[in-house]
Amino acid sequence: MFDMPIIDTELCNGCGLCISVCECGALVISGSVVEIHETDECGYCTECEAVCPTGAIQCPYEIIVEDTFEQSLEQGFE
Ligand code: SF4
Ligand code: SF4
Repeated sequence: MFDMPIIDTELCNGCGLCISVCECGALVISGSVVEIHETDECGYCTECEAVCPTGAIQCPYEIIVEDTFEQSLEQGFE
């Protein structure tokens, strides 16, 4: 499964701005709201999230905290 933006159809007003900035064709109008279609062409650029005037699109990130090399040395590469 690819990382894809999440659309809140309750907030979408169908303005189409997100479609105009998306280069992968993942976003399409369905009725009066936008739907997203999973595709590996989505580079997760977040342009659709940035341009949406209603906050209907979210591109969440998973934050992974890793030890620095120095911390690993101090801990003896446990
Ligand atoms: S920019 Fe936002 S409000 Fe406009 S169509 Fe896209 S998701 Fe809906
Ligand atoms: S993150 Fe970028 S490529 Fe992916 S759907 Fe949004 S605008 Fe399109």
